[in-house]
Amino acid sequence: MSSQREGRVYFVGAGPGDPGLMTARALELIAKADVILYDRLIPDEALSDARADAELRYVGKEGGGPSADQHEIEALMLARARAGRKIVRLKGGDPFVFGRGGEEALVLLAAGIPFEVVPGVTAGIAAAAYAGIPVTHRGLASAVALVTAHEDPTKDDQALDWDALAAFPGTLVFYMGVRQLERLSQRLIAAGRAASEPAAIVERGTLPDQRTTLATLATLATVAEQREVRAPAVTIVGPVTELGARLAWREPAVLAGRTVVVTRARAQASSLSERLRGLGARVVETPAIRIVPRAVELPELADFDLLCLTSTNGVELLFERMRERGLDARALAGLRVAAIGPGTAAALKGHGIEVDVLPERFVAEGLLEALAAGEPPRRALIARAADARDVLVEGLRAVGTTVEVLGLYDTVAEPIGDSGTAALADADYVTFTSASTVRFLLSQATPGPRTRLVSIGPVTSEALREQRLEPHVEARRHDIPGLIDALVADATGSGA
Ligand code: SAH
Repeated sequence: MSSQREGRVYFVGAGPGDPGLMTARALELIAKADVILYDRLIPDEALSDARADAELRYVGKEGGGPSADQHEIEALMLARARAGRKIVRLKGGDPFVFGRGGEEALVLLAAGIPFEVVPGVTAGIAAAAYAGIPVTHRGLASAVALVTAHEDPTKDDQALDWDALAAFPGTLVFYMGVRQLERLSQRLIAAGRAASEPAAIVERGTLPDQRTTLATLATLATVAEQREVRAPAVTIVGPVTELGARLAWREPAVLAGRTVVVTRARAQASSLSERLRGLGARVVETPAIRIVPRAVELPELADFDLLCLTSTNGVELLFERMRERGLDARALAGLRVAAIGPGTAAALKGHGIEVDVLPERFVAEGLLEALAAGEPPRRALIARAADARDVLVEGLRAVGTTVEVLGLYDTVAEPIGDSGTAALADADYVTFTSASTVRFLLSQATPGPRTRLVSIGPVTSEALREQRLEPHVEARRHDIPGLIDALVADATGSGA
């Protein structure tokens, strides 16, 4: 009788590669595990939330190699479980789809060790979906078969009933090495599938550099050789693959292989990072600034005839302060509302306010120009960062407006740490979305010699020049989509 706590093994599917396809349960268990035994084809970021003191062990096999260490893996799992550990056995895709999860579970069962299974998104279905191929489709396929075979072409073959596969009334999804494509197509044709049957190979499915090759059974092997198709890949056979040409929905991975540093405050970084990842970039977030709200008193809003907002932070904090006073959007009913750019305007819209003034150039000077078009305001309230530029204030005063500044927040430096410093030195691109990110980041680290600096607009560029750095790219539209367009144009040499 042992008083020790009981060990337990979780067979967890890590999905096909895109970290966003990991399940909530998988992430939760990874974050709690004492021991994580992981395979080769798991997402890069899968282990980033593991406990710092967790034992992380790579137990994968190299492609097509012998499976000799299966016993060792099982022995290790048993030893750790008997020592009372919480073990995550992390496998690519789904643990019970060609993952040997069932075999390992049988071993645990025999040893009387409890286990749980957390399904994952399996590569065959996910790679197809990310290539715009629905594995079933009304009128084209009402069944789907997941198929694998031994990697060694000299052995196997008895294992697969090619006649049955050829006669299968639906889509065939093969999880097999690319070396076997020739044999696969020959066998299927010999067993009666049409040589003209459409097929697709999806390499590195769901990863930023996923690639789809469309062919027919007859041309599959030759086309794969021409295109130098590499593992990991799934091969999909059936008429549904033709839909892939029309339904391919992923943005082309124009930034694949590039590392981009995002320097925005953490709370705001995600939309930029997500878009960049969607374009295939490896994104490193090194937030160099943090927003610290100030406990300010709101002035009487009805006293003003113009309200200017220059950042989404300003919008959110203004409404927070208003809420504290029991006010809502109606308190702004009598005011013209001006926003510096579309991001700020969108934030206002989120609170039910359509802006009256939105400049063509998304800088303070542009806002002044836009305001100059009408009657000068009598009293203007500018809600913004406490330490912002005074261009707007001075410009309005110059036309006789009484200006009050409501400094809603301070922007303070956030330490970027060693990893941030290293990322900056190695990156292909660093994006700067405000003058304050420039100052706070460059006070801590230096970009590498081949790192290209991307600035959102002239004010940010000026801040770079103050640090004796010339931006390589300046966005034409001074907002996040504009910044991304400029970066992509630079990376692809399209000069857009
Ligand atoms: N348990 C896994 C499959 C493991 S077998 C799952 O459910 O997905 C390994 C095979 O899966 C590879 O040889 C390849 O055919 C396929 N595979 C795994 N990841 C893949 C990916 N990102 N894209 C295409 N195929 C993949």
